[in-house]
Amino acid sequence: MSEQNKCSFCGKNENEVSILIAGLDGHICNNCAEQANGIVTQELSHKSQEQLEEELVLHSPKAIKEFLDQYVIGQDEAKKTLSVAVYNHYKRILNQREEGEDDVEIQKSNVIIAGETGTGKTLLAKTIARLLNVPFTIVDATVLTQAGYVGEDVESILSRLLQDADYNVDRAERGIIFIDEIDKIARKGDNPSITRDVSGEGVQQALLKILEGSIVNVPPQGGRKHPDQKYIQVNTTNILFIAGGAFVGIKDKISSRLNTSIIGYSLARKENIDKDNLLKYVNAQDLRSFGLIPELIGRLPVLTYLNPLEKSVLLKILIEPKNSLIKQYVKLFALDDVELKIDDEALETIVDYAIDLGLGARGLRSLCEVIFRDYMFNIEDYKGVLNISKKEIEEKMKVVDLTRFN
Ligand code: ADP
Repeated sequence: MSEQNKCSFCGKNENEVSILIAGLDGHICNNCAEQANGIVTQELSHKSQEQLEEELVLHSPKAIKEFLDQYVIGQDEAKKTLSVAVYNHYKRILNQREEGEDDVEIQKSNVIIAGETGTGKTLLAKTIARLLNVPFTIVDATVLTQAGYVGEDVESILSRLLQDADYNVDRAERGIIFIDEIDKIARKGDNPSITRDVSGEGVQQALLKILEGSIVNVPPQGGRKHPDQKYIQVNTTNILFIAGGAFVGIKDKISSRLNTSIIGYSLARKENIDKDNLLKYVNAQDLRSFGLIPELIGRLPVLTYLNPLEKSVLLKILIEPKNSLIKQYVKLFALDDVELKIDDEALETIVDYAIDLGLGARGLRSLCEVIFRDYMFNIEDYKGVLNISKKEIEEKMKVVDLTRFN
């Protein structure tokens, strides 16, 4: 009888384990392999400062913008501002050790983006995190409350970043957090109220500490703080915060500021104002009139805006980005050996529906789902080429209950 193979680590025979992998001079069983994998993962997660710095490649502002251009259409102003802010932020991290020589401390360049919903705020933040390969999380400011009220404590923002970083604190500490709907925690009304406003100002106050850079006790599972829970300490000094909001109604504030400030200047300057896109003039004063407290605005020093999406831009969004919707559908069909061909007029029709239904860029996806569903369901009928023109799209849209888009 031949001698049984054994795991060289735990000594178990091959009939005692599920899998025994042979090496040059020995064997390893599935249990020991799993254990070894755990050890390796744990060891690698404790990277040294040097290793982390090596991982963090400094991209020039131009390189960042070029990367963004592949995924986000237009919005050049915001892209430039973000590229410089992100470059400065990571330059600051990488040069921290040399600081102290000249007493010049580079401050954090947290960003705030004002732009109508669906114009690419989240997409921009997400794309930057993808380029930098750093942990990234999106949090909705509306679910946050000040300590002691129903809702999530602001520390839960950091729990999510930790989760994204697989609980590697070092990595999380240089991640990016996108705080969506920052406008929804604005103070209601222009005057600072005497009674505390739970949903608004209190949360803004609570956010200050995290944005500024401090050591925060984070509940690993998020949600509410609990006295018995163990906390993980996270230093937020090197976390980049990007806040976004639609700031509905801020245009009135901008417009009235422009009207007052322009008195005395030449009429020509007043006429030069782009009334269709007042957001491009947004400044810190407008954010303040909108209801953000000055301390919060101060901690989000880089302010930029997004343009509303015109028809030509929506059309480009449909086809141009590296993983545009149409490119995705073409690929899906190609995997079934069907060549999907959509003519220009058809693409325009999709965009027109998105505009007419007031759906913006986000609606393009739901429209495409409706349009292509039946073709995908009956895929075996379309071997070869599938041509889609305006007619096909209108027919599909005729039978759809349009109220589902509202
Ligand atoms: P916001 O955060 O401003 O509400 P998003 O970034 O979530 O908007 O955009 C919604 C979707 O619309 C994105 O996932 C993307 O598919 C599309 N989109 C919006 N703006 C752009 C843009 N400028 N370029 C490419 N796609 C865009």
